[in-house]
Amino acid sequence: MDVYRSVETLRQALEPEWSSKSRIGFVPTMGFLHEGHLSLARAARGENTKVIASIYLNPTQFNDASDLENYPRDEARDLTLLEREGVDGVFIPPHEEMYPDGFSTYIDPPANARRWEGERRPGHFRGVCTVVAILFNLTRPTRAYFGRKDAQQLAVIRRIAKDLRLGVEVVPCPTVREPDGLAMSSRNVHLSPKERNDALILSQTLLEGVRLYRSGVRNAERFIAQGEKAIQSIPGVRLDYLAVVNQNTFEPVVTIGDDDLFIGAIRVGRTRLIDNQPFAQSDLLFP
Ligand code: AMP
Repeated sequence: MDVYRSVETLRQALEPEWSSKSRIGFVPTMGFLHEGHLSLARAARGENTKVIASIYLNPTQFNDASDLENYPRDEARDLTLLEREGVDGVFIPPHEEMYPDGFSTYIDPPANARRWEGERRPGHFRGVCTVVAILFNLTRPTRAYFGRKDAQQLAVIRRIAKDLRLGVEVVPCPTVREPDGLAMSSRNVHLSPKERNDALILSQTLLEGVRLYRSGVRNAERFIAQGEKAIQSIPGVRLDYLAVVNQNTFEPVVTIGDDDLFIGAIRVGRTRLIDNQPFAQSDLLFP
């Protein structure tokens, strides 16, 4: 497995691929990899001739300086895991090459970036859209793999890929969970054993919503009221938001249908966690 620590070495490695018929699968990450990231690499491995991952802790998508400072890192371990998945190359760009002196062009995010994460984390999606566009331009992949765990991010990236004709097929991948239902996240490492246990209320509440849907209930308000009550009953947990939204527009819905998602964000101690459940897709915790 090759490691590219400059734009130039990445370009040299990929140039022959661009001019041939090979298909590049791209997996962008911020490192401290877990099974969720590796599932993206595996999906990419199955569908492309070349698989490139990136590890880049993108400063422009962090609205909270301490979140960036405390973000876990372990590059050596990440590289071992990616190599084991058969990844061909890993791009680890230096900051000065991603944002050179004078850098000042940013993507104005689409409408589906406005609410929820966009509202709670000002500037977050502007940073995400911009770095994804830069990474796509440097890698020129055929397909790029994103997790459904970050459902709003996925919708936003699908939108900009379409609107800006980025020429990349965005492939969504199912959320990977711990056996007890907690969605895997690099930030889970910050949770104490008690916090980790408290955090389960989010995945449980969302799953309960899916059960309610399957029993025939369609009124979104009822899901939210019931879910809010459950989350607020755990003293160590602060509810950030709970909503039922269309999976593409991220606008709230009143009567739930198969294209909708139950989404939520909570704070447990100093850690902020997000999760979601689709009402009628296959990546349910207990299908
Ligand atoms: P991150 O390193 O957090 O920026 O995540 C990189 C990619 O991995 C994004 O496309 C995420 O949606 C995806 N990802 C993170 N956690 C999970 C998970 N538990 N299941 C599936 N994909 C995930």
